Parts: sequence; C-alpha cells; structure tokens
Amino acid sequence: MTTFLFGTTANGLAIQGFRHFPKSESDSKSSLKHVLVLGGVHGDESEGVVLSHALLNSLLSGTVSGSLSGDLKLKISLIPSMNLDGVLAKTRGNANGVDLNRNLPTKDWSSVATTPRYQPGPHALSEPENKSLVRFIDQEKPDFIISLHSWKPMLNINEVPGSQICQKVAEAIAGKTGDIIEPTIGYSTPGCLGTYAGYERQIPTLTYEIERGLEPKDVVRKHLDALICGLKILENERS
Ligand SMILES: [Zn+2]
Repeated sequence: MTTFLFGTTANGLAIQGFRHFPKSESDSKSSLKHVLVLGGVHGDESEGVVLSHALLNSLLSGTVSGSLSGDLKLKISLIPSMNLDGVLAKTRGNANGVDLNRNLPTKDWSSVATTPRYQPGPHALSEPENKSLVRFIDQEKPDFIISLHSWKPMLNINEVPGSQICQKVAEAIAGKTGDIIEPTIGYSTPGCLGTYAGYERQIPTLTYEIERGLEPKDVVRKHLDALICGLKILENERS
C-alpha cells in the first residue's frame, strides 16, 4: 500500500489517495484490473467515507472481516474523502458550494441547478476536486469505478454496452446486503460521474448508495463484506 496526492481541495487541503497494487506473477500482471474507489464525493454522506476507511483497514491489515482473503489480486486506488472540504464541513458541496457530482464535463452538463442542493458550478469542471478526478481517469485509465454515497439503499449501475460486469458486481453486493439494483437513479443527473465515466468513456461505474444515517459500525458490519464480494468479482474478470 502506498499513498499519493490525488489532488488539492478548494480550501487548499491535500486529498489523499491510497494504492493497493499487489505484486503478481509476470504473466498475469497486465491483466490485473484497476479499480478506482471513491468516498465522500458528497461531504454530508459520511457513510461512504466510513466504508472507504473500513476497506482501507482491510487492505492494510490483510484481512477482510475474517472471512475473505485480503489478498485481492486487483489494483485498487482508494480516495476516501474526495470532497474533503465538504466532509469536514458536513456539506454536500465543496467549499465553493458546488455539487461535484453535477460538475463533470459531460455532454449533458447544464448550468441550471434543478434544486438548490444540486449546484453545478459556474462552468463544467470548474472545481479543483473534479479536475483531479478527470486527470486521474485520463492518466490511469481505471477499468472500473465504485463511488460510495448514501441515500436510499441501492446500486446504480452505468454499464458499458456489450458488458455485464457492473450488473455482476452489483449482484454480488446485493447478495450480501439485499439492496436493489437500478440502471438509472430515477432523475436526471447532468454532470455526474456515471455519465462522464460510464456512458461517455466506457468505464463501468457503480454508484453504491448506502442507507443514509446508518451508524458507522453498522455500515462496516453490513457493507464491508459486500463491497469485498463485489471486488472479488472484478478480480476474477479478465480483460
Ligand atoms: Zn451522494
């Protein structure tokens, strides 16, 4: 496990990233999938930050809830608090009041805020946290993205045509949690990561909505094994 500077927040704080890049046999090294796991895109959704840190603990300690091996044959880049300013202030938006999941430069980006909570920013990709995310995706080309949020419990999948990997990962998670799987979230979300990465860049993207308000110990108890089960599906999937 190594740490890296993912980016810098609007307030000038470091956004810390962690890399779990396991050594592998030379013949399979190139086929190890690279998964980007994001927490805290919305600063008032601490459940995703909690699950990110639980995953971090598992990867660092080498055990996963005692039942599964922590030796995941998968490259994982983990950003526990992408919107660190928002996490510290307990706000959905970043320090500029912008909803980072409405600010990505998608074809459908709109300057209109559908509600006061969903501020898209002065222009697409105006926010430093998203510039870091876009740079990461461009440079590192992850094969799969999991973004941890909280709301009504559900797994929102942005599948790439011809692939069912998102569905398979979601089914593995849902098999543990009982959460429902939704191909759309139910309302328009211009400038969101699912559209930016999933639909426009062919990177399967799973938005994992944890129950809002779940106690941290219950987030870990209910969702850590489930998340690892989803990652295990990716481990076994060769590109
Ligand atoms: Zn959210």
